[in-house]
Order: sequence, then structure tokens, then C-alpha cells
Amino acid sequence: MALRPVLGEGDAAGDEMSRHAEPDFVTDYKRWLAAGPPRCCHTCENYGNDGMCVEFFMTPPAEFAEAVGECPSWMQEVPF
Ligand code: SF4
Repeated sequence: MALRPVLGEGDAAGDEMSRHAEPDFVTDYKRWLAAGPPRCCHTCENYGNDGMCVEFFMTPPAEFAEAVGECPSWMQEVPF
């Protein structure tokens, strides 16, 4: 049995129920999740706690470390 007729809702032709409009912050949140992390050293698995990149065995300059999308060797951090 459909729930809407029981509740007395949406039984007229064209009277389709729908969700309220999504707030902008929810839309932004979904886009943010879909985009994934910004690809920079600070989110890279290869960026050690000592500031050394274990891929290149060098310390990336601060400007490079925060530059997004500049390194082809970026790897997403393992979550454990
Ligand atoms: S692999 Fe690239 S993005 Fe990752 S820490 Fe090294 S230089 Fe940074």
C-alpha cells in the first residue's frame, strides 16, 4: 500500500511531493566530497612528518608544498 494516500498527501494528479530545495551549504559539501582532497604535499602519502618527501628524498619548498596539482607523483594518504 502506498504511504501517500494513507497520509492524505499527493493524491491529486500532478500533486507530486518532492524534497525542499537543497541549501547551498549542502550542495557545496557534496561538491567538496566529490572533488576529493586538494592534491598537494600536505595531503600526500609521501610527505613525511619531518617535512621530507619520501618519493624524491627532498624537502619541498613551502610554496610548492601548498601548490595544488603541481606534482604528478602525488598519492592520496592512506587513512590509517
Ligand atoms: S610526491 Fe609530490 S606531492 Fe607528494 S610529497 Fe612528494 S613532492 Fe609533494
